[in-house]
Amino acid sequence: MAPILEINNIFKNYGSTEILKDINIAIEPGDFLVLVGPSGCGKSTLLNCIAGLEPTTSGSLHIGGKDMTHVSPKDRDIAMVFQSYALYPTMTVAKNITFGMKVRGVDAATQEAKLNEVASQLQIEQLLHRRPGQLSGGQRQRVAMGRALVRDPKLFLFDEPLSNLDAKLRVEMRSEIKKLHQSLGATMVYVTHDQIEAMTLATKIVVLKGGIVQQIGTPAEIYNRPANLFVADFMGSPAMNLIPAKVTQNGNGAKIEITRSNEAPIILHDKKASGLPQNVILGLRPEDIAEAGFRAGEGVQEASCQVDMVEPAGADTYVVSELGGKQVTARLHAETSAAPGEKLTFAIDLNKVSYFAPDTGERLN
Ligand code: ADP
Repeated sequence: MAPILEINNIFKNYGSTEILKDINIAIEPGDFLVLVGPSGCGKSTLLNCIAGLEPTTSGSLHIGGKDMTHVSPKDRDIAMVFQSYALYPTMTVAKNITFGMKVRGVDAATQEAKLNEVASQLQIEQLLHRRPGQLSGGQRQRVAMGRALVRDPKLFLFDEPLSNLDAKLRVEMRSEIKKLHQSLGATMVYVTHDQIEAMTLATKIVVLKGGIVQQIGTPAEIYNRPANLFVADFMGSPAMNLIPAKVTQNGNGAKIEITRSNEAPIILHDKKASGLPQNVILGLRPEDIAEAGFRAGEGVQEASCQVDMVEPAGADTYVVSELGGKQVTARLHAETSAAPGEKLTFAIDLNKVSYFAPDTGERLN
């Protein structure tokens, strides 16, 4: 399938400051691309370059196979859905949706037909005579989408649409957007600084830092095989444990040694670790450390550790212990008997372990 959006070697400077550095991304029709990264990493700038609201400094951008690098926003075949939804409060839902067509001089019969088509797609037929103030948050989101949909765009662009909402509404609207994506089969590009939003919505994630792409992949690829220490730390909550360790090759894989301040080092064995350098950062997700007896099999090894902190979180309990000079978090079952100051035997599962180079931060396995 031909990419619907193709970004090649895009650079963007403001004055002498490089904001975007050699961005390359391609997505297929129906993809939900999420641009994620910390504040100031260049996400909105990249979205604005796609929309044509900001010119690029160099590089090219194709939408639907056409070179749009220097085309004005209105001719790019895109629709932007804004944070506040920007609905006109005094107009009915129907007028809000048809207003853009009216301004563009579309005839009344076509407006009516488009309105009915989109209202049925979004299941808002019964809301057409209401005003925005008489709608729930989710319904307003649908109306804002409806206004974008009547344009039949190749791409929908969203810039942090949920960032102003309280936590509960944010989760509701997130599933609303996901449902819309699934039912419409539309192609979406979505900016957020919230890694959970990125994981739950995306078919494809681009992680940005300092205007440089750190990794592009499916949510599972990014979560299970982060490309470097930045992605490992940024994606996932609680964050991946990143533990300094020493590797000794022993012919059949390697011995991994993790020092502890008040106890003997922990020694683990990993067949997959052959060929690694002597010093590594070992990356373990909290769910890859269980309580002994709850996880077994190849690659799972036990170690007794002193518990420093116990944090109940409803369905899970997080237990913190010191390993390799780091506070390491294990995600245990809610009924764990772990208690601060006491010993607990952990089952450490190395099947999904990540190894990183301490100096470059790059993934080694
Ligand atoms: P994000 O959306 O990831 O928070 P932005 O794309 O808004 O980041 O900004 C990226 C960087 O570009 C920031 O350092 C910001 O200060 C800078 N920046 C954004 N817009 C302008 C502008 N019009 N002029 C100069 N610098 C800008």
